[in-house]
Amino acid sequence: MVDGTGMGGSIDETAWQKSLTDLKTKHGEKTFDAWLSFMEPKSLTGQTLEIALPNALHINYIRANLMQSVKGCVAAHLDGVHDVRLVLHATRSPVKAKKRDAFPPPRDQISSPLDPRYTFDNFMVGRPNEFSYAAARRVAENFPTEFNPLFIHGGVGLGKTHLLQAIAAHVRQTRPDARVVYLSAERFVHAFVTSIQSGKIAAFKQTLRSADVLMIDDIQFIAGKENSQEEFFHTFNFLIDERRQMVFSGDCSPGDMALEERIRSRLNSGLVVDVHPMDYELRLSILLSKSKLYPKLGITEEVLAYLARNLTTSVRELEGALIKINAHVDISHQAVTIDLVRDLLQDMLRGASRRTTMREIQTVTADHYGLKRSDLLSRRRVQKIVRPRQVAMYICKLITTKSLPEIARAFDGRDHTTVMYAVRKIEALRKEDAEIDADIALLLRKLQG
Ligand code: ADP
Ligand code: MG
Repeated sequence: MVDGTGMGGSIDETAWQKSLTDLKTKHGEKTFDAWLSFMEPKSLTGQTLEIALPNALHINYIRANLMQSVKGCVAAHLDGVHDVRLVLHATRSPVKAKKRDAFPPPRDQISSPLDPRYTFDNFMVGRPNEFSYAAARRVAENFPTEFNPLFIHGGVGLGKTHLLQAIAAHVRQTRPDARVVYLSAERFVHAFVTSIQSGKIAAFKQTLRSADVLMIDDIQFIAGKENSQEEFFHTFNFLIDERRQMVFSGDCSPGDMALEERIRSRLNSGLVVDVHPMDYELRLSILLSKSKLYPKLGITEEVLAYLARNLTTSVRELEGALIKINAHVDISHQAVTIDLVRDLLQDMLRGASRRTTMREIQTVTADHYGLKRSDLLSRRRVQKIVRPRQVAMYICKLITTKSLPEIARAFDGRDHTTVMYAVRKIEALRKEDAEIDADIALLLRKLQG
């Protein structure tokens, strides 16, 4: 609680964590990871919370883009806090170091924070993921293992991040002296770039190379970023030589990644496993386990089975459903029946029964530009076809869960780097060209109803 004397009160760790969770939900994992996760609460003076950040870049960015939101979320959870001040991490004096113990900082400035829910205990195993699970456990318990690196790939929301973080959590618990570095590839790129800008590249390299276990999530993100790939390549070679364990995840197999050949072959050189889309049984067992988080809900197995049958895309969707049902029942005190659930989740269920296919996207986009679908699939390179083709590829990436190689295949077996280029191009154009942006907004409305 705040002491109100202006002498500096203590900061409630749980409340702080809650504000972080809110910020993550509000701005998405990427923004959170790149900027907000570096925040550490430092001291409370009167009603102002000082938050420390590692460098001026972070301070400036947050100040310019996220400040209102940070203030809002912090004020919502931390009693008596009405304002926030961003400060640079001071070089740590022993006294401060002691004070900071209430908030164990990440072991290094690079690792992403772990979600405490992502443990092996909370991971439900079924046929689609049993092999990945076994491999992950094996690494966590016996690293360094003979399969190095372990590469886990699969679609969105199938548990890759959960498994990687479960390894990290397990190792930190059972072998506290081992250095575990876990980060998203996006963070890797970000930390790499900022370390160059701030002249701290040596420290960056050192952190990665001193890892006993290095884990990089969503490795596809380094595609197209040459310097980061180069750095990754050297780190990889160094760690392999030293027999340190590495684990990576990606949205497709190493062979299908839009990465340099020498990197693909290295990613392929250990054990490659994939998580398959969930089957009904796995969805049900996940729902059974997650529903324990809501004991007051009294949700029956019949209702859970209904959800498992009808919500088939990803666990996120299942979780979303439970949260929504819980929120509703919390207020209305109604019993959870199939009818209620059907009403409540109308949108989700409709979405699940009618997902936009890549074929539809191609047809609707072609139509919009007065072309035929076959034009988009053709090899013709005239501008009046190239741009619509790129738009269609972009929309496929945006609203389906398909990977770049899958999209490339749907466009008559093009190379996935072409799709990647298209996605970047249109992303950039949307920001500069109001007409294209309006076209896409219209197409999205048509496609998503
Ligand atoms: P990915 O990284 O593959 O996109 P995540 O690991 O982020 O997917 O998983 C999405 C959500 O689903 C997370 O909340 C995660 O805990 C949950 N989840 C995924 N697979 C399982 C599973 N087998 N058991 C329990 N929860 C799971
Ligand atoms: Mg993930």
